[in-house]
Amino acid sequence: MTARILVVDDIPANRKVLEAKLTAEYFEVTLAASGQEALAAVEHTAPDLILLDVMMPGISGYDVCARLKADHRFSHIPIVMVTALDSPQDMVRGLESGADDFLTKPLDNLALFARVRNLVRLKRVLDEWRLREGGPLGDIGYEALADESYTDARAFLMSDSGSVRQVIEQASDTLKHEVVHCQPNMPPPGQLLTGSFDMILADVGYQPFDALRLCSQARSCEETRHLPFILIGDRSDSERLYKGLDLGANECLLRPLNPNEVMARLKTQIRRHRLQQRIQQRHQINLNQAVTDALTGLYNRHYMDAHLRRLHARAISEGRALSLIMCDLDRFKAVNDTYGHAIGDAVLRHVANKLSGSVRAPDLVVRQGGEEFVIVLPDTALPEAERVAERLRRTIAESEVALNTEGATLRVTASFGVADLAWDEPSADEALRRADEALYRSKHKGRNCVTLAPPSNIASPTVSATERPTARH
Ligand code: GH3
Ligand code: MG
Ligand code: MG
Repeated sequence: MTARILVVDDIPANRKVLEAKLTAEYFEVTLAASGQEALAAVEHTAPDLILLDVMMPGISGYDVCARLKADHRFSHIPIVMVTALDSPQDMVRGLESGADDFLTKPLDNLALFARVRNLVRLKRVLDEWRLREGGPLGDIGYEALADESYTDARAFLMSDSGSVRQVIEQASDTLKHEVVHCQPNMPPPGQLLTGSFDMILADVGYQPFDALRLCSQARSCEETRHLPFILIGDRSDSERLYKGLDLGANECLLRPLNPNEVMARLKTQIRRHRLQQRIQQRHQINLNQAVTDALTGLYNRHYMDAHLRRLHARAISEGRALSLIMCDLDRFKAVNDTYGHAIGDAVLRHVANKLSGSVRAPDLVVRQGGEEFVIVLPDTALPEAERVAERLRRTIAESEVALNTEGATLRVTASFGVADLAWDEPSADEALRRADEALYRSKHKGRNCVTLAPPSNIASPTVSATERPTARH
């Protein structure tokens, strides 16, 4: 993982040390010797992360942080406060002043890389989101972290140390979190799966089960993959803790646990997790909007193209049938002209419902555009597809579209073309084209009818595999 990091510190030796550590891990480093320089550097270098010293002459770290967080151009850049003050109040003040995380001097490598990687990872997600949305993040930005709730989380704790349990429970109590202790007689991964947790805390000193194994299992399982995973250990465990970070743990807490720090970290982890969840949900909604048609709720052409590519590949490699039905409403322009566009829209929705209500689950109904629909029928040969098309034709022709509440109705009809995939066609486009030609013939024949595309010259995939010309060994 590489990223551009701006290091701000008024003491040259501190800058040098940080630069060396970060460069050794392949981060790109820019240096600034004062708050003033830091503000100028941000304008020029667009860093992915800022490590910001608190105590500096002139503009202090807190002030730099506040200015950047108030500027919408930079508020998304994560800031880690580096403080020599080890009083918990100051650490917490760092977070409250808008910083995204804090570190205390002397800098511990483990803590440094845990924070840096974690924040860079989250920034990646946010950057990708900004890119997709092509503009500002709306209400989901890095700054949105502060608005995210941190209470009512459920934490799984795997530790048999009395003092660890006590500190975690105390912090959780204040944060209104529920702590569920690992049951010694059940495998922890199983407990994770059934517990619907928001966060996992695992002590590397826990004897019955390896915390790192739990981490890698949690990361490879869909239900727990994105949960904040926090390792707890002694300084002497640092090698294993590093390994845990590589396996995807988000955070390390070192014993003896500092109650205030624990609280601040749990709070931040839950907030980040919730922000990411919110982003993912948004993304899912956007994805759905990209593949469905707003008027009818059917899949759109864009989705059909991708779906057809997969089905085509499967049909060819496994010798399975695939048929396509094209459907176009008859004299639909006249419906618009006579009753208006709104009624036209209602007719389109009505037809979409009739079509999707009359096919099997694996069949896909697509609004190809305007008043044209495509029905994709996997594992269906031409004669069966013809029967389906005939059924759809009848269903539409016999149904009535309500025009108003007084009972006035309208009937519409549609014309159909049906084709199946020939077994060595390079893509499904050819079958679509033949279905379209057949549809055109239905229009010519007088509409409200079904026409089959003439069989392609090539044998269809429904011909049994043994009859197909195959290379002999
Ligand atoms: P044919 O039987 O030959 O298919 O005649 P047609 O009138 O259905 O065909 P034509 O292609 O001439 O007209 C299609 C009409 O569909 C024109 C267009 O205004 C209408 N249309 C396309 N999309 C929509 C839509 O989203 N809403 C409404 N209300 N009408 C639409
Ligand atoms: Mg039409
Ligand atoms: Mg048309």
